[in-house]
This record gives sequence, structure tokens and C-alpha cells, in this order.
Amino acid sequence: MLPVVALVGRPNVGKSTLFNRLTRTRDALVADFPGLTRDRKYGQANYEGLQFIVVDTGGISGDEQGIDMAMANQSLMAIDEADVVLFLVDARVGLTGADQGIAEHLRKQNKSVYVVANKVDGIDGDSESADFFALGLGDVNQIAAAHGRGVTQLLTHTLMPLAEQFPDMQVPEEEEVTQEQDAEKQLEKLLASPIKLAIVGKPNVGKSTLTNRILGEERVVVYDQPGTTRDSIFIPMERDGREYVLIDTAGVRRRRSISEAVEKFSIVKTLQAIEEANVVLLVIDAQEGITDQDLSLLGFVLNSGRSLVLAVNKWDGLDKDVKDEIKRELDRRLGFIDFARLHFISALHGTNVGHLFESVQEAYNSATKRINTSMLTRIMDMAQADHQPPVVRGRRVKMKYAHAGGYNPPIIVIHGNQVKDLPDSYKRYMMNYFRKSLKVMGTPIKVEFREGA
Ligand code: GDP
Ligand code: GDP
Repeated sequence: MLPVVALVGRPNVGKSTLFNRLTRTRDALVADFPGLTRDRKYGQANYEGLQFIVVDTGGISGDEQGIDMAMANQSLMAIDEADVVLFLVDARVGLTGADQGIAEHLRKQNKSVYVVANKVDGIDGDSESADFFALGLGDVNQIAAAHGRGVTQLLTHTLMPLAEQFPDMQVPEEEEVTQEQDAEKQLEKLLASPIKLAIVGKPNVGKSTLTNRILGEERVVVYDQPGTTRDSIFIPMERDGREYVLIDTAGVRRRRSISEAVEKFSIVKTLQAIEEANVVLLVIDAQEGITDQDLSLLGFVLNSGRSLVLAVNKWDGLDKDVKDEIKRELDRRLGFIDFARLHFISALHGTNVGHLFESVQEAYNSATKRINTSMLTRIMDMAQADHQPPVVRGRRVKMKYAHAGGYNPPIIVIHGNQVKDLPDSYKRYMMNYFRKSLKVMGTPIKVEFREGA
């Protein structure tokens, strides 16, 4: 599990500037898949070795006539789901009535709230932010989100107290994880564990129906887990001699009434499930076509590097014309993800549900297929011979050797001279070459470039 950080504050204090800074590095992964718009409210952050989920609540208007009214439902829910609330204020504007209204609301929550005075660049931060002590929420943290000043200190101060509760939060330095021995250790751990399969999708696509269908066919051991709205349910199961843990974001076991069914969807829960999973099964509703929300969930999956299987559900009772039209639309809008298998299913009738697991298995096997230095270097040499790297600043880029840097997704680290200068088109060529040569399906692969031997 990753901690959830909510950014709260009136408009214009710099929430989206901070959000963008925190989520940028992870977005680099998605950038390889043009055609995806990123979610400007929810993001996977990876900043200075700390991983967490960040939510830009955005919805507080700052209207002084009753903060409760002004707060959109979304913001309230985001605060409710957060482990840490960063309450942003504008050091240039100073304390406003709206800030006080928000503070009053936050003081009633049983949450870790930190006051963050933004835009301290070029001003005397200490004196300009002194006013904010009056909010009664403790110390005032000074940052300049636009320039990154103070952000690392802020995160260290606010998140490190949670390190024990969220051990996955700290990622080792890049150089450390990409040692070959570490990759091997990671692989052995993955192979000794059950496959964690998350079933995700927007509300009403059929996740519960599908989960029940899958569980109905299998021997299940369900244990009760207490939890809040943002917690998924983990259900161990067996299939074809393999052990799985189903990560149920739909809350099958807890569902008792229609109203609960409406409330059960949470993007934070979905993000947590994706981060937790080895393989993600993304469910799309054939009868609704592909919506922006599907694409934004897809963006989260691609960003996480998890293996992916797509299920187009409610494929029953559709005319051939409609089916053809849906297939064309899928091709047009999802054609860019060439690594994931697509299944047309009916969770209601059970059609094709069995085949899903063949793809899940294949995706997991691909994500955990052992790769070694000699094999990767051989493939790299072939790629280099087929299509020479370009000349940069009068010298030809030379790739020297490749080794495994991690699994799920497979990471290939290439060392050489000036490899950092390779154009994106050549980097993509290398990724596709590895993909074809290694015959992986269902998982993205990452290729990283390191200067020198
Ligand atoms: P939001 O409405 O809270 O999401 O605020 P934005 O992130 O859109 O920022 C509002 C304005 O403040 C924009 O013009 C930003 O460029 C500016 N801004 C954000 N952070 C800083 C900062 O650290 N220093 C300065 N000087 N301006 C900032
Ligand atoms: P969730 O919110 O994603 O968990 O969706 P549910 O499993 O609660 O399903 C939402 C609605 O879609 C329910 O009325 C289901 O009966 C219906 N549904 C689910 N799967 C199918 C299917 O394969 N075909 C059809 N026609 N309806 C389905």
C-alpha cells in the first residue's frame, strides 16, 4: 500500500503546480503511449525516492459563505481517503478568510494536516508566512512549488513518519535496484508469491459480476477484512494449479444494498489496487464504448508498469453491426497499446471468462521471464547491427552491453557511450526490438540507458 496525499486549498495557491511537479517522473512512462490524457486530479507520485498517491482536490471554491457548502463531494472524499493533507496557502497574498474557513473544516477531521505556504521565491518567506500560524494547524512549511524549492523537505517531514506503516513508499535509488543481483532477488521473490490480480474499471462495467463469476467457479477461501472505503478486498484463490490473490476493488463481499453499490467506487482504491497488483484486468463496458474515464484508468495502469489484460464486457445481446462498430472504436482509441490481449466477454453469462486467465497467466509469465546479460547483450548487438545508432556531436553512439534491471515490468539496462543522447525514436526501436526478440506479451518493458561501462 502507498500513502495518499491530498492537496487542499483555495484556487490559485499552486495546487496543480505542485501536483505536476510530484507526478512528472512517473508520467514519463506514459509519454511512450501517445493518445492518453493524464488525470489532472489523481496521480502516482515518485519524488526523490518516495512513492505515494497524490490527489488535487481542486474543488474548494474559497467561497466564504460556508465552507461545507462550497466543498465539492470529491474534495471531501479525497480528504477522507488521505493519510496526509497538505493545506496550501499563498505566501504572497497572505492569510485570507477563505483560508480560515478551510482550516476550520480541516481541524474537525482526524487527519495529519500540514500548512504549506507556497510561492516563497523572491520574498522573505519567514516574515510573509508568519501570519499562517494563526490558522492553528501548527508549523508553516515554506515552498516554491514552481521551482521545487522546499518540496523534498516538505515530503520528508510529512511522509517519513508513515514509513513504518507504508514500507512500499520508499524506493531504492535507481543505481541500486538495477544491479543484476538485485533483479535476480526480485525475480525469485515474485516467483515464490501468488499472482496478485486486480480487477479494475469504472463503476457499473461489471467488476462485481465478473468477480463473482470467477469465484463461483473456484475453491475460495475468503477471510473478512475490516477496512475503509479505500481498501480493496484480497481474496486468495487457485486456478490451473497456480495460486492467485484477487484484488477486488468492487467490494463484492461487502455489498448489501444498491446505495452501497453506488458509493463503492473510489479512484484512490483503484490506484492502490493497481500499485499492489502484478497483473491488472481492466474491464470496459461494450455497451458504453470507450470513455475518458476508461482512458484515464488505462493511463494509471501504463504508468505503473503492471501487466495488463483488457476485457470488453457485456458482449452479450449485441447486434453484429454494433459489435463491428465497437471493434473499430477500440482499434482507433486503443490501437496504440499493442502489448495487451483483448477479450470480449460476458460476465453475466460466463462467456469467454475462462480465456481471460490464459492471458493473465501469459502476461505474468512475460513479466517474470528470466533475462540475463549474455542474452540481452546478444539481442542488443543484433539490433545495433540491423540499424546503427546515430552520430551525435561527431561521434557515433555505441551501446556496449545490456543487463536485467528488474521484473514486472522487465527492465533492461543498456550501458554505453553517449547512450543518453539517443533520440526517442531509436530508444523506441530498441524497446520494440527487445519486445519481439524476447517474445513478451501482456507486459510493458522498460529500457534504461546508462553512460559508461
Ligand atoms: P491552483 O489553482 O491551486 O491549482 O494553482 P496553480 O497551480 O494553477 O497556480 C496558480 C498560479 O500561481 C499560477 O500562475 C502559477 O504559475 C503560480 N505559482 C504556483 N506556484 C508558484 C510558486 O512557487 N511561485 C510563484 N511565484 N508562483 C507560483
Ligand atoms: P461494477 O460496478 O463494475 O461492479 O458492476 P456490476 O457487476 O455491479 O454490474 C453493473 C450492472 O451491469 C449490473 O446490472 C449487472 O447485472 C450488469 N452486467 C454485468 N456484467 C454484464 C454482462 O456481461 N452483460 C450484461 N448484459 N450486463 C452485465
